Amino acid sequence: MAADARPDLLWAPLAWLPEGWRENVLLRVGADGRWAEVTADVVLAPAGAHALAGPLLPGVVDAHSHAFQRAFAGAAERRDAASDDFWSWRERMYAVALRIGPEQLRAIAAQLYIELLRGGYTHVCEFHYLRRERDGSDYADPLAMSWALADAAAEAGIGLTILPVLYERAGFADAGLRDEQRRFRASAAETVEAAQRIRAAGRPLVDAGLAIHSLRAASAESIAALRAHAESFAGPIHIHVAEQALWRAARIEPVAPWYVAADPKQPFIAQVRARGAYALVERGAWAALGGAPLAVVVEGDPQLAESVHAMRSFRVSHPAGKIFLAWIAGGRGRAAVAAQHGARPR
Ligand SMILES: [Zn+2]
Repeated sequence: MAADARPDLLWAPLAWLPEGWRENVLLRVGADGRWAEVTADVVLAPAGAHALAGPLLPGVVDAHSHAFQRAFAGAAERRDAASDDFWSWRERMYAVALRIGPEQLRAIAAQLYIELLRGGYTHVCEFHYLRRERDGSDYADPLAMSWALADAAAEAGIGLTILPVLYERAGFADAGLRDEQRRFRASAAETVEAAQRIRAAGRPLVDAGLAIHSLRAASAESIAALRAHAESFAGPIHIHVAEQALWRAARIEPVAPWYVAADPKQPFIAQVRARGAYALVERGAWAALGGAPLAVVVEGDPQLAESVHAMRSFRVSHPAGKIFLAWIAGGRGRAAVAAQHGARPR
């Protein structure tokens, strides 16, 4: 940048704007950190503008983050036992979640947000359930953990939407949470109040929405209560869906005794066999479990399809990783992924 360049004025030979690629684009940054002006067809970069070398893309939004999990990224993605799966990963996640306080969260989140910025993300949405004290009681300010996230975002310079999460039970058949989930407990009223307080604080580049953990972790009554409380709240509502969308589409509420969530501590196949049950399982997991003795009853329905993401790690870009990424994004890789799901490649 030339010595007389204005840091708030940029000029790009090519930029992706809402209408598509445009040439010779002048951009001015406002005092609030947002774009104050974006003008295409400014053929010559004005004096003082910082002329960029290459094409310019909009910032990417990370729509689903749990910042505290950055603390053990790389430490849990391995198999220690034949029965390791999502639920055993979650046990490790809980071990970390039970130890982090607001100061640690602030430091961990600031590191993550800087990494996100370096990767091209300019906004992050926090699916925020790590809210209470380690013993499950409220912090003196019940939003201490939310403010830790907001401080981290301000320090890093990233936009933040905090999504307080309605979270009240361990599973469909449970009245409450398990002991190791005590920090996550939040009723509909508490969830809405948190979102309203975060928004009312009016911190720059910080907004709030509402989240429901999942249909498994919140009762129909509480979701209805959240909706009622949220009548006056004009923000986004966010929920983990995956298989729950199927139940909704089928207009069936999965409830005991005919519906049973698998016990994460027991071998999955043995549970299905012991109950003589049908199981809803991802094909990769089914194959990893050895397939037999479970026979496939139905697969390949588009509603069962899952999208596959290959993501570049923030710090590692091994040559083999690059080769794999090129392959999986190509025609043969896509066909292989589609075959995994029992669907024909498109
Ligand atoms: Zn999540």
